[in-house]
Amino acid sequence: MSRRYVEVALPPPLARQFTYGVPEEVDSLLPGALVLVPVSQRLLTGVVTRVNIPLEHGLNPSKIRDIVQVLDDSLLSDEIVDLCRWLAEYYMAPLGSALVAALPPGVRLSSKRSVSLTQIVQVKDGGVVDAPELEQLGGEERALIEELARSEPLKVSTLQHRLGRKGLEKRLTGLRRRGLIDIAPILEDRRTRAVSETHVYVVDSQKGESALPALEKRARRQADCLRYLLEQGGCARPALVRAGFSAAVIKGLEERGLVESELRERVRDPLAHIEQGEAAEFSPTVDQERVITALEESLRARAFHGALLHGVTGSGKTLVYTHLVRSALEQGRSAIVLVPEIALAWQMVRRFKQHFGDEVAVLHSQLSAGERYDTWKRLRRGGQRIVIGARSAVLAPLPDLGLLIVDEEHDSSYKQEDLESAYPLSYSARDLALMRGQRQRALVILGSATPSLESYANVEQGKYTLYNLPNRVDDRPLPAVHVVDMKREPFQRKQRAIFSKMLRFKMEACFERGEQVVLLQNRRGFAPFISCGSCGESVQCASCRVSLTYHRSREGSRSCCHYCDFSAPVPPVCPSCGAAELRFEGVGTQKVEEALVEQFPSVSVIRMDVDTTGWKGAHDELVERFRRREADVLLGTQMVAKGLDFPEVTLVGVISADTGMHMPDFRAAERSFQLLTQVAGRSGRGEQPGEVVVQTRLPDDPVLLTAAEQDYVAFAERELNERREAGFPPFGRLLVLRWRGEGEEAVERVARGCSDRLMRSLDPSIALLGPSPAPLARLRGAYRWQALLRAESARALRDTAREAWDEMSQLAQRNGVIFTVNVDPLTMM
Ligand code: ADP
Ligand code: ZN
Repeated sequence: MSRRYVEVALPPPLARQFTYGVPEEVDSLLPGALVLVPVSQRLLTGVVTRVNIPLEHGLNPSKIRDIVQVLDDSLLSDEIVDLCRWLAEYYMAPLGSALVAALPPGVRLSSKRSVSLTQIVQVKDGGVVDAPELEQLGGEERALIEELARSEPLKVSTLQHRLGRKGLEKRLTGLRRRGLIDIAPILEDRRTRAVSETHVYVVDSQKGESALPALEKRARRQADCLRYLLEQGGCARPALVRAGFSAAVIKGLEERGLVESELRERVRDPLAHIEQGEAAEFSPTVDQERVITALEESLRARAFHGALLHGVTGSGKTLVYTHLVRSALEQGRSAIVLVPEIALAWQMVRRFKQHFGDEVAVLHSQLSAGERYDTWKRLRRGGQRIVIGARSAVLAPLPDLGLLIVDEEHDSSYKQEDLESAYPLSYSARDLALMRGQRQRALVILGSATPSLESYANVEQGKYTLYNLPNRVDDRPLPAVHVVDMKREPFQRKQRAIFSKMLRFKMEACFERGEQVVLLQNRRGFAPFISCGSCGESVQCASCRVSLTYHRSREGSRSCCHYCDFSAPVPPVCPSCGAAELRFEGVGTQKVEEALVEQFPSVSVIRMDVDTTGWKGAHDELVERFRRREADVLLGTQMVAKGLDFPEVTLVGVISADTGMHMPDFRAAERSFQLLTQVAGRSGRGEQPGEVVVQTRLPDDPVLLTAAEQDYVAFAERELNERREAGFPPFGRLLVLRWRGEGEEAVERVARGCSDRLMRSLDPSIALLGPSPAPLARLRGAYRWQALLRAESARALRDTAREAWDEMSQLAQRNGVIFTVNVDPLTMM
């Protein structure tokens, strides 16, 4: 038999494909297999991307090395490898990067293997006892077996260390072929095993709050500790608690019955506590029925169909999803359900688990690498046919895919951008879902109450079909929205009040009726600006060009950067002019919480933002506590706006609708509209009708007014006109080129040099905007510049960038500057 060759893609930083020979003992190898290959002096894990390739002309067969080992012969499928090829081409990334995105984490880059014996071998006085099948082995092979018999399994690297590298791979291969040893990949994972640790939590937050004043006098430390726990959302890891508080303090609180500790698994299975009881089975409303029937028909047609499901908040989109997933399963096909952030999607997972039980696999970051790996294998075999997950789940290796659902399709987390990596792969999971659906002849449903303008324009162009759910279920009304002009609110103690008269009044009434309130303030911390009353400068982070945020915590007040890890006590004087006149300006969630507790002492609050959701499972726990009515108010950043369904919430308050409205970003208006409409949609979802109070300093802003009317079409038409005039998406496509590095001057020089190079071969149909400093001109110590390419087709942009690619990369490399591109960017930061 002549020698066979395959193409193997390697992960970054190598990130290219190489040719390898296939050892004779390997019978068949398919694209998607995970293999261990030699790369100069090292062994690396790669993915087979083509099999039986002809030897490229000019390559010397004796220079081509063999694959060392097949680690897994069926981890990815042909289909996924092809999809990754498209992904890499479209987003201008190496194929290796795209494949890494499709692999379960932990498998990435790992090239560690463990070796174990397949039978028990006894060793005595330095020799093997009673093992006839070992008798014919050579001395070196015997030494290897003896080493393993003393302590197995061993890593290959350990064996190399003990026995030397020379000839080791050959011996391993030989012993494996004889069935004497097993070799398996070791997954890279820092937390494969679930670890138990003690959690300390407040038994009843209301009781805790009211016990504070008395404790303050009798046991200061206990009061501090309790306050800290309450700040953390009622629960904290002991490590955090121990940092400041002795066991005696915690014990004291336990004896008062205020806190309890409990041994819990750190990496808990978030599904473990989901009862698989009977699902409440509603019969679909007339509207739901109409949509379900139409979509079932296109599912049966087994041809690609793109559907935009525009359903107002509370219109019952989830029920449409579950019905269609059932139809897909009945056809023997599988389904993927994408959610923007799994941390906020447990509610959806619950509903699906209730309907489909063990058919549902949930991909989330709390799974260990081992669990993910097993899930991958199960999915590949068709052992579970429904996957729910965040963006990376779009690459799950399900066979016979019939349905892809992208819930809240407008959400920007579907295209997360990595501003730190040197090999970023920023893809839109929504767009990839459509691409995969096309290749699989599947139905793709994009669902939202506030569709992205891209999707809406695609409907107008006839690429997708629009399905409407124009009403809430049972004809429940959409909430009434009141816009309050904060410029007209009276001052209190020389400051504008945080709550307008109307919001205060309506909250009071709501509490009296025993109903719940959701408050949105899309800024965390206490005050987003620290500025000097004397020179007017704001205090900035030393490594990022952003203002520091003032946070209050148990240790006192701190100034923190929201873009890097910087955190330090607030300086006593202004760093610019030395005046002791620092002021804290603006309103963060902590400040809202303080005002709320001050004005409504008997009301209990759950604050949900990055600071209170640091521990695993925190989101789900806070949300469930609110659902169980353990608090009257859920206060937080945009997290509180996303898809949550609390039937008892009848009032939503937006503390400041202006936050983020005027970012230097052409999507700022769209994002504000979505946030306001979505948060308003949390009100009045149950039997009782709801209201919304939106506080603003710009009460005539057209974006805000259309959001208040919850008039999506009016917003979309107006905004689309503006985009059309400016040539921005969806009417033009964008590609951002970015440069960053430690040297300010070098970054600018390279940015200009690259732009000049682009200009030289620029087609007149393509516009080059910039280069200029990025809106975040300094981030984590790096200076950042960017330029924008704009044209009608994404392909034209990629071709232009590709043509100048080598020269641009070389220029950047020579000057120590990192050069990256982002196709279809979502933000301009
Ligand atoms: P959306 O995601 O469109 O905002 P949900 O799917 O969360 O809405 O549904 C809103 C609420 O209406 C949920 O509490 C859900 O249980 C309920 N619901 C959905 N469909 C029906 C129906 N056909 N009959 C009664 N209640 C329904
Ligand atoms: Zn910083």
